Amino acid sequence: SKENMIIEIEDLSVSYGPIQALRNVSLDVKKGEIVVLLGANGAGKTTLLQTISGLLKPDSGSINYLGEEIVGLSAEKIVSKQLIHVPEHRQVFSTLTVMENLELGSYHHYKKSGKQAIEEEIKKVFELFPILEERKEQLAGTLSGGQQQMLAIARGVMANPKLLLLDEPTLGLAPIVAQEVLGLVADLRNKFDTTVLLIEQNVVSSLNIADRGYVISHGEIVKKGSARELLNDKEIKEAYLGQS
Ligand code: ATP
Repeated sequence: SKENMIIEIEDLSVSYGPIQALRNVSLDVKKGEIVVLLGANGAGKTTLLQTISGLLKPDSGSINYLGEEIVGLSAEKIVSKQLIHVPEHRQVFSTLTVMENLELGSYHHYKKSGKQAIEEEIKKVFELFPILEERKEQLAGTLSGGQQQMLAIARGVMANPKLLLLDEPTLGLAPIVAQEVLGLVADLRNKFDTTVLLIEQNVVSSLNIADRGYVISHGEIVKKGSARELLNDKEIKEAYLGQS
């Protein structure tokens, strides 16, 4: 039902000059869901997240977020509506401490909700990522790859997202660390009811934590279904056989 709808994207088309990156993409995410967007390199996944968060302007189509059209709003305005994008390549401020990185994540939320709300968020983040509490005085640049990715996600959580967009949080991580990061995304939803739209290349691991998924190819959604349906899909199995 409309009440449970967090985001509803309809017929979204985006291009870079003459290159059309997305063609009539429709997708939705409901409250409390983890939805995964699967697809090969260059399929258009990052373009979709960047368009949702206002970094790119679509040629056409609509993005309804919590009942409001957000196409045309600035990225700043969209962030202020607690639609939070954690971009790929674990962007943390390497010369700041873990704690300082977390505080920066809460900047908008702080302006709105004050110090006490931030302390609540910190508690939540440390419950989910105890390693970050242990390392809170450490410079972010000296964390391991997996820890930096956890910090990047934690910084997103600090903004108290109503929708969290995660762009390939396992990129470049060893398989076991990738599993751990995806497990934390599942915890985030299970413990705190956070709604997540996730880009992943680890097809099986991400479908294992997701409720639903979409497959994008050459800028178009070519398949969608429940995680179970996609895990049992013959074409997906063939394409990704042997992938973790
Ligand atoms: P990856 O997993 O490699 O990041 P992706 O699915 O996220 O891939 P996008 O980065 O969204 O794919 O790219 C979609 C298409 O748009 C690709 O053909 C890409 O070359 C093109 N593209 C992306 N950014 C630009 C840009 N700034 N200028 C021109 N073309 C671009």
